Amino acid sequence: MSSNIKNKGKSPKLMRAIRAAMAETESVQERLDDFVDAITKAMGVKVTSIYLFRQGKDLELSATKGLKKSAVHKTRMKPGEGLVGHVALTARPLNLADAPSHPLFSYRPETGEDPFKSFLGVPILRGGRVLGVLVVQSKFIRSFTEDEVEDLLTVAMVLAEIIIDDERAGGKKAALKGIKLAPFRPETVKGKSFAAGLVKGHAYLHVPPVAPSNMLADNVEKEELRLEKGVAQLRASVDAMVAGDTAKFSRASKEIYETYRMFAYDRKWVGRLREAVHSGLTAEAAVERVRNEHRARLMKSGDSYLRARLHDLEDLANRLLRALLGEALVPGNKNISNDAIIFAREIGPAELLDYDRDKLRGIVLEEGSASSHTAIVCRAIGIPLIGRADGVLDLIETGDPVLLDGDDGVVFIRPLSSQFSGFKLRINKANKVNKIYEGMKSKPAKTTDNKLISLQLNAGLLVDLPQLDQAGADGIGLFRTEFQFMISEFMPRLKEQTELYKTAIEAAGKRPVTFRTLDLGGDKILPYMDPVPEENPAIGWRAIRIALDRPGLMRYQLRALVAAAAGNKLRVMFPMVATVDEFIAARALFDREIDRAKKLGHELPYSVEVGAMLETPSLAWQVNSLCDHADFVSVGANDLMQFFFAADRDNARVSERYDPLHPAAVSILKFIVDGCKRNNIPVSVCGEIAGRPLEALTLIALGYDSLSMPVTGIGPVKAAILKLNAQKLYGRIEPHININTRLSSIRETVRDFCLEENIPI
Ligand code: PEP
Ligand code: MG
Repeated sequence: MSSNIKNKGKSPKLMRAIRAAMAETESVQERLDDFVDAITKAMGVKVTSIYLFRQGKDLELSATKGLKKSAVHKTRMKPGEGLVGHVALTARPLNLADAPSHPLFSYRPETGEDPFKSFLGVPILRGGRVLGVLVVQSKFIRSFTEDEVEDLLTVAMVLAEIIIDDERAGGKKAALKGIKLAPFRPETVKGKSFAAGLVKGHAYLHVPPVAPSNMLADNVEKEELRLEKGVAQLRASVDAMVAGDTAKFSRASKEIYETYRMFAYDRKWVGRLREAVHSGLTAEAAVERVRNEHRARLMKSGDSYLRARLHDLEDLANRLLRALLGEALVPGNKNISNDAIIFAREIGPAELLDYDRDKLRGIVLEEGSASSHTAIVCRAIGIPLIGRADGVLDLIETGDPVLLDGDDGVVFIRPLSSQFSGFKLRINKANKVNKIYEGMKSKPAKTTDNKLISLQLNAGLLVDLPQLDQAGADGIGLFRTEFQFMISEFMPRLKEQTELYKTAIEAAGKRPVTFRTLDLGGDKILPYMDPVPEENPAIGWRAIRIALDRPGLMRYQLRALVAAAAGNKLRVMFPMVATVDEFIAARALFDREIDRAKKLGHELPYSVEVGAMLETPSLAWQVNSLCDHADFVSVGANDLMQFFFAADRDNARVSERYDPLHPAAVSILKFIVDGCKRNNIPVSVCGEIAGRPLEALTLIALGYDSLSMPVTGIGPVKAAILKLNAQKLYGRIEPHININTRLSSIRETVRDFCLEENIPI
């Protein structure tokens, strides 16, 4: 702590007065009146005024000491208008010795303010939003001291909490009649849908704000010490991150930690925190205040680099809060309401699973990505997730009612009653449709021309397994084994792998489970593995390429699979095979593990099938030769389409640019199914398209009789199949399956057919 800070004066009188005003139980209007009186006396000024945003638009004079009382709730101004409006617009204090000479000064005769010269206005900030402006004025020309500015900022922060508290209580104290603060308007935020579903509930902030009761320090010196300790702890932890085992971090995260360190040692940042504590705030409230100031400024910045830095600073502030509060801020707080919708900047899968599953309804993130672990877990446990909801944390408070539309990626905050009723209708409709699907659960998926289709589940985690029965799936057509690796902090051991595979086999009973060996690399990076920087990770060193170059990991996995399937049927397939030679080499590794188990006298699976995922166009052209070596083929349409159209599936700009129902894509899918059938090798499709009715019907018309899909696809696809005449649909499609067609998609052809045939799509 530097000595000059210690010697700076603060206003104990002002803090005492504020504390007294806070302790009162009267209405908020009376409290505001007490505040302006207390500030006027303690700071020795002539005027103190509070301006608040009305309906989030105009600033309204809401309390004053020194101006004409008759102007209260009458005088209004726009943000940017006059000095008060300027403070609101810039979210910065304005300290003027001679206000009338400032070009922005605007005279309001109804307030009677003309005799006042000096002006100090500070923004009333909360969560980076400006709720209003607090102003003091004095009669003669004088500059307010830095300490006075700090004091007023502290008061403004406390004021913000009092105002919000009243609003939280539903304005019961009817204090600020007619005043509607900006954050309490209904808001609609558009993000991206990462897990579908419609839910309603109440917001829960993953990292909560500081409670107003903990804002003012009882003992400033003690708070100063707490802050110093917290900052030291923060610096030590950030140092450890940077210096830590670099193998643990990807290149990107190392850069982030370097930036954290820069901020943690930033003298200005820590200086602002010290000043805030020195002005009478608790260490936690100081962190919150400095964060609000940064947010308010940086959010206005058009510079995306600066805005990105805001996120780093926020993270750092959160870490410091955790250091100060110990466990109190650790995510996973169990006190969530029965219908909690978690709001966070980002959340890890482990943190997510910490929340009580019975109470958790949905998740909204400012960041996130469709292929993140959290998105995978959400889809698996059927919790809707919206990501990339930019700025949503500034609009939300714990307890706010929320409607989450995970289908379209929209979140409605504090919705209007009309939005509520519209949403309710949609939920009811979805529930009704789900009931219909449930009624079909045990019906075989047979077309009207008697083709029996096997509908299986894409899975990968323990939490997926109950869905097998819930959806009435015919088995697991794709078990993504890498998920277990991705959500673990450490490499799962042989025993853990074996246990998971065994549980999956047992859950499926007589139904088949097709295990895919590790599909790592690309964007699927494990925290405990060395990252290998690549220009084009999707077509880089991934999946079977890693397995063949470093066979240890796959052999281990195959060993676990063989052990798990002892006495049972075992189906294994390899991902990202580009040549038949690769498949032969991988199969040889598998055979070695079977031999090893035999030699050791272990019980063996009673039957073994080894297949290939067909997800590279090159393998499609080797389909005859592949069928000589593989027991089955599973078309990984997500990757096949990505490589077929040369369009990155994780890049939003191009991922939906090309339609998998483009005649060229339909032709290659037909070519594959024909090739496998000619060779009497079973073939299925396991990409996302298998779970979409129009695409699924097309695949069936082409000749596929086995589809594996996300659980949400099974009901709609089965409902459509029950009304489908596959032969007839093929008749419609067939003329387009040649690459000379002018159509860019047969989607409309298939859709028209379904409408004519009364097929639900
Ligand atoms: C695919 O590529 O279609 C597939 C099913 O595998 P993944 O989505 O896991 O790459
Ligand atoms: Mg794939």
